[in-house]
Amino acid sequence: MHVVEDKLLKNAAIIVAAGSGLRASAPGVRRPKQYAPIGGRPVLTQALSVYAAHPAIHAILVVIRPGDEALYAEAAKTIDVKGLLPAVTGGSTRQLSVLNGLRALKPMAPARVLIHDAARPFVSQAVIDRVLAALDSHKGAIAALPIADTLKRGHNGLIEATVDRASLWGAQTPQGFHFAEILAAHEAAAEAGQTHFSDDAAIAEWRGLEVALVEGAAENWKITTPEDLARAEREWRALNGESPPAFETRTGSGFDAHAFGPGDHVALCGVKIPHEAGLQGHSDADAPLHALTDALLGAIGAGDIGDHFPPSDPRWKGAASSLFLAHARDLIAQRGGHIINVDVTILAERPKIAPHREAMRACIAETLRLSLDRVGLKATTTEGLGFTGRREGLAAFATVSVSIPVFRKA
Ligand code: MG
Repeated sequence: MHVVEDKLLKNAAIIVAAGSGLRASAPGVRRPKQYAPIGGRPVLTQALSVYAAHPAIHAILVVIRPGDEALYAEAAKTIDVKGLLPAVTGGSTRQLSVLNGLRALKPMAPARVLIHDAARPFVSQAVIDRVLAALDSHKGAIAALPIADTLKRGHNGLIEATVDRASLWGAQTPQGFHFAEILAAHEAAAEAGQTHFSDDAAIAEWRGLEVALVEGAAENWKITTPEDLARAEREWRALNGESPPAFETRTGSGFDAHAFGPGDHVALCGVKIPHEAGLQGHSDADAPLHALTDALLGAIGAGDIGDHFPPSDPRWKGAASSLFLAHARDLIAQRGGHIINVDVTILAERPKIAPHREAMRACIAETLRLSLDRVGLKATTTEGLGFTGRREGLAAFATVSVSIPVFRKA
C-alpha cells in the first residue's frame, strides 16, 4: 500500500513560462506569447489545464519571468488547479529558469518530473502518458517526432549538403526525468558554467544519462511567431468543437507631417532617397510609415505611435520606422487578426516619389507580410499651397482595413 501511494504521489510537472516574448516582435512588447489568449484563455492556462487534468500529475509548478507576476496571477485564476505550487521566477536563460523550478521542488522530493514549455498548449494526456511510461525503464524520456522534411544544410542561401534525416528527431516537451538525476545534472551544468543548453534532454545527455525518445504529436507544436497565435486559435476551436471565430473588418486612419531640415536624404516608406534636405524628427522621420503605423494602431484601438515608442526614449533616436510598423503588425497578429490592405498618400512637392514608388510598396509589403496588390501608394503635390507647397516639409495620410476576430465574453 505504501509503495503504491508513494508512486501515486510523486510525479511533478514544471511548466516553463519564463520566455521574454515573441521572437518576431519589436522591443517594448509587454505581453509575452504565453499570456496571449487562445480560446479566450492565456496560452499558459491551456497547457496548465492539461497537466492539471492528468491523474498521475500531483504537483505543478510554473516558472515565470520576473515582472510577469500580475500576468501570471491573472492567468492562474482562470482555472482551478489542484496541487499548483506558488510560481517561481526564472533566470536569464531557459536552462536557469528550469533549474529554479527544480530547486523549488526539491523539498517535495518527487520521484519524477516532467518539464514542459508553456508555448506548447496542445500537449495531450496521451503524450504525457507515453513519457511517464518510458520513465519506468529509463532515467529520462522526451516526446519527439521523426523529421518528415528533407533537410538541407545551407550557407548564404545556397545548399551545401543534404542531411540524412533517417535518425533525426524533432524534440518536443514534455521531457521527463527521474527527479534527483535531472536536478543533479542541472546543478552540475550550472556549476560548470554551461548555461546555454536549449532543452533539458541536452543537459541529461551532457551528464551521460540515457534518454528515451517517445512518440510526440504533431498537434504538440510550439507557438513561436505572432502569426502562430491565429493558427493556435483555429486549432483550439477545432479541438473543442467550436466554430471558427467570426471576423469583423476594421478601418483605421493616420496622418503625419515632418519638416525639412539639414541633410542630404529623406526616408520615405523605408526607402532612402537622396534629397537637398533631410526630414527632422526623433526617429528617421519617415512620415508615411508613421501615418501607416498610426492607422494600424487606430484600427485596433491601440493608441498611437507615441504611446508605444515615446520620443523621450533614446532607444528610438534615429530608429528605422519599419520597426514601428512591424510592432503594429505584431499587435494585430497577437489579436488573431490580419491586415487586409493599406493605402498611403504622400503630400510633397519634392522629392519626386514616382521613381521610388515600387521600392516603397515592396518595402511596406515585406514589413507587413502582404502581397503587393494589398499595398496602395500614391503621391501628390499640393499645387504650391500650404506648408508642403512651400516645401517646408511633407505630409502623409494612410488608411487601412484590418480583419479581427470577434470574441463574445463568456
Ligand atoms: Mg512622425
